[in-house]
Amino acid sequence: MISSGSLPRVLHGSEGRPLSLAQHEEVFIAGTPFNVMHELEHSGLTGRGGAAFPTFRKVDLLRLQRGHNKSVVVNVMEGEPAAHKEFALAGANPHLILEGAQVLAGLIGAKRILVCVARDNPTVVNHLSRAIHELERRSLRGAKIELHTPPWRYVAGEESALVHWLNDNESLPQYRPERPSILRVGHSPVLVDNAETCANVALIARFGAEWFRKLGTEKSPGSTLVSLTGAVERSTVLEVSLGTPIRDILAAGHADMAPQALLLGGFGGTWLHGQHIDTPYANEHLGAHGANVGAGVMAVLPREACGVYETLRIVRWMANESARQCGPCAFGLPALAEDLTSITHSSKDPKAAYERLQSRCDSIEGRGACRHPDGVIQLVRSALIVFADDIAQHIVGRPCTGTQRPKHTITIPSLEHEDELIWE
Ligand code: SF4
Repeated sequence: MISSGSLPRVLHGSEGRPLSLAQHEEVFIAGTPFNVMHELEHSGLTGRGGAAFPTFRKVDLLRLQRGHNKSVVVNVMEGEPAAHKEFALAGANPHLILEGAQVLAGLIGAKRILVCVARDNPTVVNHLSRAIHELERRSLRGAKIELHTPPWRYVAGEESALVHWLNDNESLPQYRPERPSILRVGHSPVLVDNAETCANVALIARFGAEWFRKLGTEKSPGSTLVSLTGAVERSTVLEVSLGTPIRDILAAGHADMAPQALLLGGFGGTWLHGQHIDTPYANEHLGAHGANVGAGVMAVLPREACGVYETLRIVRWMANESARQCGPCAFGLPALAEDLTSITHSSKDPKAAYERLQSRCDSIEGRGACRHPDGVIQLVRSALIVFADDIAQHIVGRPCTGTQRPKHTITIPSLEHEDELIWE
């Protein structure tokens, strides 16, 4: 058994290579059999994909659904471009993910497990495909496991978009006024959980809630994976106890220890001012600064970078990544990017652009079919607070060297020619 207070947990045992089934069984020796629903409830586990919804409640909701063909969908899409944690986990302990999915399938009475990995990442597809074949050779009992490989894009990892793709080969989010809502493949209900959540379910089923709670805080129990990037020696994935001071996470990842700001949660997350690096990394503490753990991204912004320009880069990219099926995405996000461009380059009346930007945020919020535009607005609003002094400088036309893109700013995929991005 892994010692209850030690790390790593979900990344335990792997030394740069995925554990085989035999190695997995050797490393994660089974504990006493538990009433898993009871343990899941008392563990306080919340989804590690971003929404932090209590896993027990989601499972309980699916248990109550009728239907003989329920499925568990394992989301390994890693929608956030700055995140690498699901890939790191699949490259370390693919069998832990699959074991958790099987536990969940048993709890809700699912016949199928649909593992979804972006086809653009063949290495991760291979890791999971090999693990699934190993399991199939071992036993035909339990839910049938299928591997699905949708194309990667930002919204493809959103759970309703993923289910849409499984139904119709289209990665478009579905309108869901109420959360949690029941998603369906065909007519049958599905439980969607990300890979890290599944791995934690496997550990709770093996070792129990008390063991799980030995790490983390009362309100945010357990460990979590952090994708650390930006001003760091090397982008990396760390497993930390929830509630660890951000300063300690930066030190463990050899990051810039005097950052200007941190982007937390992902591209639809929030900026946190560098003066708050002693804040414990848990939602109940980050909330005081308007931030949250979200999808587990921590991108470090160095002092020489321009936070307004970095926000513009992200907003531009997010505008291009939307599914453009709703007005807020099709028109609102490009307009936000345009206003930010005027502010950043002190052109076309930046003061008016600043005022427009604020009112646009109010008018776009809550009007998309999914939360994509709301995430962008959250990011922009946090930028207006954290980089308020810089914005004031831009508005009066003072030169800003940060727009020259120093090294180690936020990496945005496939955006070598970001100035050429166009939208109508
Ligand atoms: S809000 Fe944007 S990303 Fe979400 S469904 Fe509408 S167009 Fe697509």
